Amino acid sequence: MQIKRNILLNPGPATTTDSVKMAQVVPDICPREEEFITVMRELRTDLLKIVHGDPVKYTSVLFCGSGTINIDICLNSLLPESGKILIINNGAYSARAVEICRYYGLPHIDLRFPEDERPVLSEVEQVLKNNPDIALVHTTHNETGTGILNPIREIGELAHKYEAVFTVDTTSTLAMRPIDIERENIDFCMASAQKGLMAMTGLSFIIGNRSIIEKSKDYKKRSYYCNLYLQYKVFEETGEMHFTPPVQTVYAASQALKEYFAEGEIEKWERHRRVFEEIHAGLKKLGFKNLIRKEWQAGLVVSVLYPDDANWDFDKIHDYCYERGFTIYPGKVSDINTFRLCSLGAIDREDIVDFFSVFEESLEKYHVSLPVKYNS
Ligand SMILES: *Cc1c(COP(=O)(O)O)cnc(C)c1O
Repeated sequence: MQIKRNILLNPGPATTTDSVKMAQVVPDICPREEEFITVMRELRTDLLKIVHGDPVKYTSVLFCGSGTINIDICLNSLLPESGKILIINNGAYSARAVEICRYYGLPHIDLRFPEDERPVLSEVEQVLKNNPDIALVHTTHNETGTGILNPIREIGELAHKYEAVFTVDTTSTLAMRPIDIERENIDFCMASAQKGLMAMTGLSFIIGNRSIIEKSKDYKKRSYYCNLYLQYKVFEETGEMHFTPPVQTVYAASQALKEYFAEGEIEKWERHRRVFEEIHAGLKKLGFKNLIRKEWQAGLVVSVLYPDDANWDFDKIHDYCYERGFTIYPGKVSDINTFRLCSLGAIDREDIVDFFSVFEESLEKYHVSLPVKYNS
């Protein structure tokens, strides 16, 4: 079967290999069969390996849903009744965590920083010091809306100093930027299969500290379907998901993990880095400016400022590129117009070179002046 290859420069779902796509085509199987349980067992073990987690101390729990389900589950499941959540918020994904707290009515502090800046650690510490009831600290590793990398190791150290659990949304770094769960002071991290793993949508997972999950057994249950302890318990007892798993998506993720280990942690990260550098080189040549200082970028998402040109029309440029197999993506910043080019997925430098020739063609076609202009 010939499958058209699209280059997705959006921040996930990412371009996948044909072997991962085809891994979904399997004989029908009831997911309660031992054969399928074995696939999930290996998947859980492999996910732990990605973050170098000691299987005695850490575990991984799978869920059926998009990545947001992980944030929902961590926040609603890991908060003791007397505690409060601190969200360190400098972007759209931490803002989503704040929204989850609001929906569940969870006591929380929304500690905000500008979207184009890193959190100030002394302010984080001050809040922790002033609020001894903070039981959980949450932030985002790579704020996918802007591409800024947050100092999770330092935040985790502070969280632990004040005896809080540290949960990190690593959805847009895990299986790309190397992560050592223990060294980064992470109690729980998370991702979904369609991002760093370069697999399919619909499967998400939380990797974290077993004893903290065990301790949450008696915490207030705020959701039935989305509770970490309940899902963990069923996995430990039966190796299965509590309810029906996304069977074909699990097969694709299992193949993607084989390909992850075959490519290698460092080699894969180097590939994403060279794609990222090629994106920067192409943008620079055309005169585009970044929203985030390059040294603060996580190496996976480039947030680009719209040029000041009456002929610039993101949708037209998008459509031109899309028709030629390249997907570019709008920005996710509150009050500045940006678009994003990302280095996720099964792509390499040549794909970016090809993209920029199409992108430049589209700018010329719509008479955007080159190099692009900015008023300030
Ligand atoms: C993609 C992503 C998510 C999950 O978003 P969904 O819309 O649920 O797929 C969560 N956090 C971050 C940082 C992400 O990049």
